Amino acid sequence: MNFKDYITIVPNWPKEGVQFKDISSLMNDGKVYKAATDKIVEYAKEKDVDLVVGPEARGFIVGCPISYALEIGFAPVRKPGKLPREVISYNYDLEYGTNTLTMHKDAIKPGQRVLITDDLLATGGTIEATIKLVEELGGIVVGIAFLIELSYLEGRKKLEGYDIFTLMTY
Ligand code: 5GP
Repeated sequence: MNFKDYITIVPNWPKEGVQFKDISSLMNDGKVYKAATDKIVEYAKEKDVDLVVGPEARGFIVGCPISYALEIGFAPVRKPGKLPREVISYNYDLEYGTNTLTMHKDAIKPGQRVLITDDLLATGGTIEATIKLVEELGGIVVGIAFLIELSYLEGRKKLEGYDIFTLMTY
């Protein structure tokens, strides 16, 4: 199965010059969504993962079926003001401005082996922030899984020292 056949490239969205990789066409085909999930489940088994963590919103789409398949937990990473209990926060810089991500303080038991999931690796900023949150809570990041890597943006450089799995590379 060639997963790239199920990615829709949307020119000039959300802004001029961006070739947006739309994963919703992959998710829309149940067999392909399952096949993609199964690949990441295999990877997670090799890494002996005991918790999945993903940033909103597409990190949930990739991560939650992994949790279901392995009967392990999922912990969400969200923008400020979305999680109802006590959180920890991490601020990071964007091209223009800054962004903040949060996690519930009790989302991870120290020493848990964590798999981070997201749909796409671009500059790596989102996942770098997610790693900081996981590690602040005592989790061990044993792997990071994406459907897509935009290798020309060199996000891997930001994630040096971590094990990365990707299904598709552009
Ligand atoms: P980064 O923080 O690595 O620069 O950006 C990655 C984040 O932006 C991911 O959470 C991802 O959902 C989103 N993103 C950026 N570009 C694309 C794209 O072309 N397609 C999709 N599906 N998500 C993107």
